[in-house]
Amino acid sequence: MSDTLDLSHIDLSHIDTWIFDLDNTLYRADVSFFADIGEKMTAFISRHLALQPDEARLLQEEYFHDYGATLSGLMDIHGMDPAPFLDYVHDVDLSVLTPNPALRSAIEALPGRRIIFTNGSRGHYRNVASHLGLLDLFEGGFAIEDMHYEPKPKRRAYERFVDAYDFDPTRAVFFEDTRRNLEVAKEMGMTTVWITGDDAWPGAGDAEGDYVDAVTSDLAGWLERAR
Ligand SMILES: [Mg+2]
Repeated sequence: MSDTLDLSHIDLSHIDTWIFDLDNTLYRADVSFFADIGEKMTAFISRHLALQPDEARLLQEEYFHDYGATLSGLMDIHGMDPAPFLDYVHDVDLSVLTPNPALRSAIEALPGRRIIFTNGSRGHYRNVASHLGLLDLFEGGFAIEDMHYEPKPKRRAYERFVDAYDFDPTRAVFFEDTRRNLEVAKEMGMTTVWITGDDAWPGAGDAEGDYVDAVTSDLAGWLERAR
């Protein structure tokens, strides 16, 4: 993916709120990092629903596709308690994630509010952003607990987020690797930047539409050029 849909196409002079997804946006992990989380989800589902691992994996993928987050399907269909699931699946080795000083500098220089908007848990975004040396740059985050487990791309997640942080969506830009999560953001007036990579997260690139304002595989470089 090239940067050809870059800054010549969009104006950021009106932006006062900078919103970032977490996983595969603020960092790009080795595939094994997400495989670890995915395997823990499979194990948890298998144990709690008494399914074979391959059946559990199918359910996991189906709920991710249908609900935006596997947990939301487990809660809706099976009445699962979210806290033990989140604690278990996000208890992974963060040492494989490498801090990126260039990204820190680029985010630190942004004028305005900076907020994390993730379908992960509060604990997950705080652990990861802290490990990456980025957490102090953000006013806060909005996680799946804050979404009442109705995650992106559900419109209600975005409405709750805007209400909670009381910002004007038309003055916000949203960076996100899961392409379908940009559609509602765009409908609400946000500027949208799709973060791409060779190892796109499931769900990335599976939607059609012209709701992507810019595309980049290099968030730090893009932000530096945007200033
Ligand atoms: Mg992501």
